[in-house]
Amino acid sequence: MREINNYMKITLAGLSRNEGLARMCAAAFVSQLDPTIEEISDIKAAVSEAVTNCIVHGYRDTIGDIDIRMKIMDGDTVYIKISDKGVGIDDIEQAMQPMFTTAPDGERAGLGFAVMQSFTDKLKVKSTPGKGTSVTMLKKLGRRG
Ligand code: ATP
Ligand code: MG
Repeated sequence: MREINNYMKITLAGLSRNEGLARMCAAAFVSQLDPTIEEISDIKAAVSEAVTNCIVHGYRDTIGDIDIRMKIMDGDTVYIKISDKGVGIDDIEQAMQPMFTTAPDGERAGLGFAVMQSFTDKLKVKSTPGKGTSVTMLKKLGRRG
């Protein structure tokens, strides 16, 4: 069992103007671990992609809650869970393939999951069609030096 040293939970309306707020909250929460600039920007990028997906895909033309849970574990590991109660994903494996996108007009690259994967140590996606999606990420900090 991992030791939980701190945690937070926030709920944001799924509006694109809350993306920046989500990034800032995540950065502020991890600041207690004295992260490097690179670690902060990795976490912001991963949170940004997950939150954008909730807004753009999960809720599409509607507005719903985005829950963000974060924990500090074992003194050096950041846990991030971002969930929506939107449309869900039919085929998670396919959705996670780099360059796969269901956005029709070519304005999305299909790289959000790839970004989350490369900027964190572990990524897990759970989804139930019609019920929603959650993305859980783990990132161990403090590898400098
Ligand atoms: P990009 O992130 O590069 O702008 P994208 O959002 O299409 O493009 P990913 O973030 O990798 O690419 O997501 C891939 C696909 O997974 C999406 O096109 C969408 O079909 C599905 N998806 C991702 N997150 C969600 C979600 N929260 N709810 C419903 N579907 C999702
Ligand atoms: Mg995306």
